[in-house]
Amino acid sequence: MGYRISFDQADQIFEKLGEAYEIWAPKRFVGKGRYSQTDLIRYDRVCKIGEVEYKEKSDLPAKEVLSPITQSLFYFTEDEFIESKAGHKKLLVFMRPCDIHALHHQEKIYLENGGFADMYYQRMKDRVKIVMMECVSGWDTCFCVSMGTNKVDDYSAAIRFEEDGVLLDVTDEDLAPYFDGSKEAEFKPEYIKENQMTVQIPEIPDKEVLTKLKEHPMWKEFDKRCVSCGACTVACSTCTCFTTTDILYNENANVGERKRTTASCQVAGFADMAGGMGFRNTAGERMRYKVLHKFHDYKERFGDYHMCVGCGRCIDRCPEFISIAATVNKMSKAIDEIKGGQRDE
Ligand code: SF4
Ligand code: SF4
Repeated sequence: MGYRISFDQADQIFEKLGEAYEIWAPKRFVGKGRYSQTDLIRYDRVCKIGEVEYKEKSDLPAKEVLSPITQSLFYFTEDEFIESKAGHKKLLVFMRPCDIHALHHQEKIYLENGGFADMYYQRMKDRVKIVMMECVSGWDTCFCVSMGTNKVDDYSAAIRFEEDGVLLDVTDEDLAPYFDGSKEAEFKPEYIKENQMTVQIPEIPDKEVLTKLKEHPMWKEFDKRCVSCGACTVACSTCTCFTTTDILYNENANVGERKRTTASCQVAGFADMAGGMGFRNTAGERMRYKVLHKFHDYKERFGDYHMCVGCGRCIDRCPEFISIAATVNKMSKAIDEIKGGQRDE
C-alpha cells in the first residue's frame, strides 16, 4: 500500500514505531569528518525523519548496524561464561539498494560459510526490517548498475523523500497499522538505470588464466601506492573479517570479556601464521587478494554473484585515491591480454 505523508506526520509515526523498533539510518555528524570542517555521515539511531541524511551517500555502510566495528561477544569468569545481551526491540534500518544487496552477501559469509551460522550475526539479522531508500541518481563513485545491485524488492517499506514530505510503499503487514489513517497514494520506487561510471566485470575462465593473473605486473603498482591502512575494508559494505581479543578486567587473568573487532586483509600481518609464516607480505599481494576475493573467489564459492556491490565507498575513503573500479577495469584488460597470449601460443 502506498502513502503520502508530511514530515510532521512521519515524526508522529516514528514516535509510535519507537515503542517496538529502534530506527537506524544514515545521520550527519557535523564537523566529525576526516578533514577539518567536514562532516561524517554514518549510521545511528534516529527519532525524527529530519535526522535521516538522504541527500548524500553515507561514508560508512549499513553493515555498521548488524556487525558493529567492535562488540562484546561474552563475559567469562574462571568456570563459566555469559553471552552478551541482544537488544529486545526490532531494528528498522534505512538502506539504499546496494546496502540491501550487501546485507545478503554478508549473510552468506556469516551464516552459510563452512556450514556454521554465526549466532551473534544471526540474532541481529533476525531483528531487522528494511526501509529501502529510493536511489535514482547516485554519485561519481557508484557502479551498482555494473554489479546488478541497483534494484531490490525485498523491503518492508520503500521511501522517497520529497520537499514537503515522503512517499512510502509499505509491504510489511507488521508496519501497516502504523499508517492507518494516512493519505493513500500510488507509489512504487524507481531505481537508477545508469551510473556515471561503468565497470567491466571480469570473467576468469580457468585456473591457468587465474595463475597468470596472480603473477601479472599490475599488482606491483600497489606496492608503492597503497599504504595498507585498511580504510577501504572498513568502508566496504560487504567485508566481514574480524579479530577477537580477550579483555581482562583486573590482575585476575580468568575474568573478563571477549570482544570482536573489524579486521582488514589490507593491513600488514593480517595473514601471518604461528611460526612467522606470512602469505601476503606486500601491499600489491594484499590488493590482489582483496580484488580477487570480491570479483572471483566469492562467486566461485557460492556460485551466484560477485561479492562487491559497487557502492564505491572504498574509493571515497582511500587516502591514496586508489579506485577499485579502475583496478577491476585494469584486471579485465589483463585477463584479455592473458587470454590473447594463450591463443597466440
Ligand atoms: S551504488 Fe550508489 S547509486 Fe547505487 S544504490 Fe548504492 S548509493 Fe545508490
Ligand atoms: S587501497 Fe587505499 S584505503 Fe585500502 S589499504 Fe590501500 S591505501 Fe588504504
